[in-house]
Amino acid sequence: MRVVVTGAGGFIGSHLCRYLRSKGYWVRAVDIKWGKYISDYADQYITVDLRRSNSALQTVKGVDRVYNLAANMGGIGYITEIKGEIMRDNVLINVNMLEAARRHKVERYFFSSSACVYPTYKQKSPEIQPLREDEAYPADPDNEYGWEKLFTERLCLDYAQDFGLNVRIARFHNIYGPEGTYKGGREKAPAALCRKVAEASDPGKITIWGDGKQTRSFCYIDDCLEGIDALVDSDYDEPVNIGSDRLVTIDEVADIIIKISSKKIVKAYDSTQPQGVRGRNADLTLVKRLTGWSPTVSLEEGLKKTYMWILKQLHEDEQGK
Ligand code: NAD
Repeated sequence: MRVVVTGAGGFIGSHLCRYLRSKGYWVRAVDIKWGKYISDYADQYITVDLRRSNSALQTVKGVDRVYNLAANMGGIGYITEIKGEIMRDNVLINVNMLEAARRHKVERYFFSSSACVYPTYKQKSPEIQPLREDEAYPADPDNEYGWEKLFTERLCLDYAQDFGLNVRIARFHNIYGPEGTYKGGREKAPAALCRKVAEASDPGKITIWGDGKQTRSFCYIDDCLEGIDALVDSDYDEPVNIGSDRLVTIDEVADIIIKISSKKIVKAYDSTQPQGVRGRNADLTLVKRLTGWSPTVSLEEGLKKTYMWILKQLHEDEQGK
């Protein structure tokens, strides 16, 4: 099996390259830039801007499968603030990649969509019901990033209908783990909280965005990789949730990380910062029925690995490594 992974310099993409290679696949890794953690995880590396159609065509040439994870994205602060740039970049990347996959007649095409497609009116309370795939409509995503994901989900299905492209679509719900962005403004809540706790003195204080009562579910990267693999091997082409259905408040996430650190830390709250929807959880009925997959790594276990990794990065950053 010859595959291309786009966004391979990023968090999920780099882990996915490693995972697919361990299955014996020949892996082409594609990104516009490469992080500090790049290692020998692919058979070929191509550095291109997928907003250009010729670049997309070049990356898909000669492969059986496409895993398209490239996107202009970030945590809640980033996707709340940046609108036109996210819409423009991601529409261009996704149109170019789908068209390249069609022209090169790939056997299968994977698209990484997001829980951000779900409508705001279903996520107004912290005690939210887990969201089922068929609840994305009537559409009302909370931000432009979610609208673009919804558009591209539709485009995937349109390419399946009009051109017979074999598509698989995952809606990721808050994937976290080592090697994710942990500073700079694009980091997501688990990484941001790990960094804040790691940087805090002992005893010390951290500031949480919002009142801490907003809820989410979080899925560890290793579980996510197994989920992608199971979904791609299935014969289902509509969107499918990949995440966890353990609902926790952001406060609880912070408490778990503080416990891992063994520090004495008090929490302060900043309600002027963006916090996204009030509550969000994943219904995993469909993915379990289709593939038998469900997440196995506990939040405590996953956060411990993430915290230890971020702690190490901060030490290295300090030493200028
Ligand atoms: P990431 O930001 O770590 O990786 C995305 C990669 O895409 C980056 O390395 C970036 O350089 C690359 N990229 C951006 N623009 C590009 C361009 N023009 N050409 C080529 N490469 C480009 O993000 P991630 O967390 O690994 O997410 C991977 C995918 O999963 C994305 O599509 C994202 O929207 C989706 N997703 C992630 C989560 C999550 O919790 N991490 C949740 C929902 C959906």
